[in-house]
Amino acid sequence: MIKVQNLVKQFGQNVVLSDVSLEVKQGEVVAIIGPSGSGKSTLLRCLNLLEKPNQGQITIDDVTLNAASYSRKEESALRHQSAMVFQNYNLFKNKTALENITEALIVAQGMKKADAEKIGFELLERVGLLPQAHQYPVTLSGGQQQRVAIARALAVKPKVILFDEPTSALDPERVHEVLQVINQLAKDDTTMIIVTHEMEFAKKVADRVIFMADGVIVEQGPAHEMIEAPKNEKTQRFLRQLS
Ligand code: ADP
Ligand code: MG
Repeated sequence: MIKVQNLVKQFGQNVVLSDVSLEVKQGEVVAIIGPSGSGKSTLLRCLNLLEKPNQGQITIDDVTLNAASYSRKEESALRHQSAMVFQNYNLFKNKTALENITEALIVAQGMKKADAEKIGFELLERVGLLPQAHQYPVTLSGGQQQRVAIARALAVKPKVILFDEPTSALDPERVHEVLQVINQLAKDDTTMIIVTHEMEFAKKVADRVIFMADGVIVEQGPAHEMIEAPKNEKTQRFLRQLS
């Protein structure tokens, strides 16, 4: 479903991703872990073309893009294959929960408002926020805002959802409700790549864990094995520091 080949991203002289290759199967949940500054966010942002990769090839489902040269059409096609969920929710502050979800459907896809709202209500129900449909983000807790952001990501029916530390900005008592929604998506066979520091969650929900350091994939393997018994010394050191 996803194939990344020899991806390189540099900011000026700073090589942030060097020769990253990875594959993700349909329905697979992959957790990416690693120290701050190792390139995890940049990798997700390259997959969604929020950052332009310098070299390499990205395939998501039936769309392939060569970093070296691609058309506007290919760029837009690849972008539509994925949806991002950010650490800080990034909701539209002047729109209600429902409007946050329907915006892309109405404006970008030209869907009728009533049809978009039907989908919006269904998704709000799925993330447990139907009663909050007409509330503005400022009146919602962090956990609720993040669940709206997840519903918004689902609305466009992406092939993969990319989560960048979805619980890092939350109060500890709010982490669980967001992880539970992601866990449910995993059970529904949603393909997901999740950058996270929640090792217990990764162990439970992810099929595979990738450890990144200094812009390369150092080690990857089945989630349980990677977190309980990593082989690489850098991975071992990273996990020891967390506990
Ligand atoms: P992580 O998510 O693993 O903490 P990032 O992908 O955010 O790591 O960052 C990797 C490196 O890329 C860091 O050294 C960071 O300073 C650098 N970087 C990220 N974004 C930019 C940018 N827009 N401009 C310049 N350097 C950046
Ligand atoms: Mg990051």
